Amino acid sequence: MPKALAAVLESPRNFQLREFAIPEIGEDDAVLRVEACGLCGTDYEQWLGHLKDWGGGMPIIPGHEVMGFIERIGPQAAKLWNVKEGDRVAIEPVIPCGHCEDCVQGAYTRCRSDKGYGLYQNIHVAPSLWGGYATHLYLHPRTMVHKLPSQVPTDVMTLFNPLSNAIRWVYEAGGVGLGSSVVIAGPGQRGLLAVAAAKRAGAATIIVTGTTRDGARLQLAERLGATATIDVQAEDPVERVMALTGGKLVDVVLDVSAGAVAPVVQAIDMVKRGGRIVLAGLKGQNKLNDFPVDKVVFREIELVGVLSAGWRPTELAIQMIGESGAELRALCSHSFPLEQATDAVRSLGRESSDGREAVHVTLCVNGIG
Ligand SMILES: [Zn+2]
Ligand SMILES: [Zn+2]
Repeated sequence: MPKALAAVLESPRNFQLREFAIPEIGEDDAVLRVEACGLCGTDYEQWLGHLKDWGGGMPIIPGHEVMGFIERIGPQAAKLWNVKEGDRVAIEPVIPCGHCEDCVQGAYTRCRSDKGYGLYQNIHVAPSLWGGYATHLYLHPRTMVHKLPSQVPTDVMTLFNPLSNAIRWVYEAGGVGLGSSVVIAGPGQRGLLAVAAAKRAGAATIIVTGTTRDGARLQLAERLGATATIDVQAEDPVERVMALTGGKLVDVVLDVSAGAVAPVVQAIDMVKRGGRIVLAGLKGQNKLNDFPVDKVVFREIELVGVLSAGWRPTELAIQMIGESGAELRALCSHSFPLEQATDAVRSLGRESSDGREAVHVTLCVNGIG
């Protein structure tokens, strides 16, 4: 019997390659042959051992941004998901319960079932294969499955997950559309994809802020459609936004910066009266003690927190990659085989470098092109 091979996170910073039986399936589930898995900051946090409160702990197979080919599927699942063996598909990270208050209202990404891929069930939960750092993934009956185009190269296609986030944050939560003005704080992979999403939505002014260290990323932002970039260590970002907009300020600020709280305070002074601030960057232990509440009230500013994506933004992301994936390829900086999972996570966390800026890192298991 062929076996599945997986990189198991046994303890913080410790991957071991292990073999598992490929699970038997029934009427309503399936097995995916993993093509590739995208990485994000959460993968790095998980590897460091910082996600103790999330899911079943270690040993676990990480990988929550998974795509691949349907290897075996039960007839009921094939009918419900509208896919067949051999189809190329993307998998959403959460496995919703389908019955809680959030699920029945369509907000299934807020489901508290605590089931999903890469971050939730550890290897002691049968059938163990719950993460994308593996040759095979078990597909639970309630998995959210999206069909993918067949011709897009693997690394570009793995952008489906971060791009679905960017689309929801900029377009759905931010309301960015034709003629909008937007500031995007933080030029990481999600910030850069937010630039591409804002451009596609028709934004007229797209300003991206970063630090001096982000020089290469700010250049990339301009290639993707930013109309201006600001190095916040070299100039005052609020004054610059004021100047760039002729004093009008912007409709929307999206904060995707990690750890820093200053962009949240600055956003209050960058956004128009009645404008919207979308908060997506996690700040960890960094508390905001001088938050200007009165300005938010007097200027009627909306504050929105966002975490992940969902069905429609994922479909829009897949469509956008199918149509203009070539433009996004510049973000795909690093691709590693399964055996080099440690190198993949370390380069994402900027712990090791081959001299090139790590923007989007892919673990490529059975990739194409
Ligand atoms: Zn992720
Ligand atoms: Zn639910």
